[in-house]
Amino acid sequence: MTTDDETVAPRLQLAATALINGSDLALAALPRETGGILVGWYDGDTVVVTDVLPVLDKRAGGHHYSRNHKRAQRVLNQHRKQTADKNVGYVGEWHSHPAPHPPSRVDLDSLAELTEVTDQTVALVVFAVNADGAVSPLGAAGRRHGRTVTIQELVVESEPS
Ligand SMILES: [Zn+2]
Repeated sequence: MTTDDETVAPRLQLAATALINGSDLALAALPRETGGILVGWYDGDTVVVTDVLPVLDKRAGGHHYSRNHKRAQRVLNQHRKQTADKNVGYVGEWHSHPAPHPPSRVDLDSLAELTEVTDQTVALVVFAVNADGAVSPLGAAGRRHGRTVTIQELVVESEPS
């Protein structure tokens, strides 16, 4: 992971619904991983996540989840149809970790790949299940400046429910 001191650290605001849904989905999938896409909008350097949408991966295991692109597009289209707020769109990716582990090297590499093809910040939230059953949202952000992709830790703030 590289850090870029010249720019403001990005922040992620996780709506209460998003935190609850992500935690519930992570727990329901145990002992496997699950995941999908983050929806919301950008507010300056803050990524506002209004909800987490599940995208099914039948082959997900205890250490892997792979997000299918076509299925994700369908889930996103469906969500946008049902949401009155037209500012809501794709802002990133999420998946769960059945153990309290932060985003892995593989996770950060695939985040970098996604970041290479967009001008927007791409957020990643890992919902990590702790030994006591509590779920911690751990974030990373990918940003592209020209040809350089920067991956940073993302401070996750969640709204009180
Ligand atoms: Zn992971």
